[in-house]
Amino acid sequence: MFTMERFTKYKTMIFPREIIVGHKTTPQVADLCGRISNGTSALVVCDKNTKKLSGNDISKTLSKANYEVKEKIVTSPSVEEVNNLIKYAKKNNIEILLGVGGGSVIDVTKLASYDLKKPFISVPTSAAHDGIASPRASLKHRKGSVSKTATSPAAILADTEIINKAPFRMLASGCADVISNVSAVMDWELAHRLKGEEYSSHAAVLAKTAAEMLIENANDIRPNTEESAWFAVKAMIVSGVAMSVAGNTRPASGSEHMFSHMLDHLGPGIMLKGKRGRRPMHGEQCGVGAIMMVYLHGGNWEKIRDTLKKIGAPTTSEELGISKRKIIEALVRAQEIRPERYTILGANGLTEDAAKKLAKTTGVI
Ligand SMILES: [Zn+2]
Repeated sequence: MFTMERFTKYKTMIFPREIIVGHKTTPQVADLCGRISNGTSALVVCDKNTKKLSGNDISKTLSKANYEVKEKIVTSPSVEEVNNLIKYAKKNNIEILLGVGGGSVIDVTKLASYDLKKPFISVPTSAAHDGIASPRASLKHRKGSVSKTATSPAAILADTEIINKAPFRMLASGCADVISNVSAVMDWELAHRLKGEEYSSHAAVLAKTAAEMLIENANDIRPNTEESAWFAVKAMIVSGVAMSVAGNTRPASGSEHMFSHMLDHLGPGIMLKGKRGRRPMHGEQCGVGAIMMVYLHGGNWEKIRDTLKKIGAPTTSEELGISKRKIIEALVRAQEIRPERYTILGANGLTEDAAKKLAKTTGVI
């Protein structure tokens, strides 16, 4: 006789409770903190630049609203910085943490809050990658970077007037990071079909929607237009929600991210002459990776390339400032980054000949 198997599946999804995005939203910070926490002691985490750009204003606004405010400067996304922040927050009985900055500040504050079990408010001053709204954080170590589990920010306060002041290159890189969701989702679908990996169609649709938002509005993503910051941040928030639904980074990180992490792993010796001091950014590398991975999937790679060009993100090794040889090496070795995460690169990665052909056909080298 046929008996039904008992249903035992369960899942936890944590989303930001409040998202405020748009022109001159910074003054809303005190009211926002009040809605997120009953606590009255806040820690504003910045770096030297973002302190001037926004951190000082945030501290002042909070002080005026009778918050006891402490400030801390973060210099690098390292484990030591996270531990220092945790110690400092404990000593000062901090009840709410605000990360005011780009990737590093937000990642360090996100991880510290996760450990402290205190609410974290993400206050991006640039839109360089999708970490501003995601439940993950990445830290640097000697050989590249590691991705760590945290929770989604309790709230996001994105002031597009401030984000618009950041170099446009950062925003273009952040957009490329979200556009690379296209290949990440293709990899996820492949792993689901081939390896039976758990797959969420809702998370996949959200991740693809985030990328589509930018592909469709690529003509409007230009330097010195606040609207560009608006499109970028909105897409990053949708991408972050996709990761919260999935409970992992699958919808936003596949073979193109492995390629990017392998480039980091191969080290700064990769710079072309004349490009030193202009290290390629995470999103820029992922964008170029996405062109090649979408090609391997048999997808519309030209659309990815053309969109990146429109936005002003790199599409070639030359524009990245990375030698052809390193591009090939990163392609051949990319799957070593996360062997358990099945992608179009397969279990053994590409052969050198295949990697060369791939990079040439797609115009990357
Ligand atoms: Zn990324």
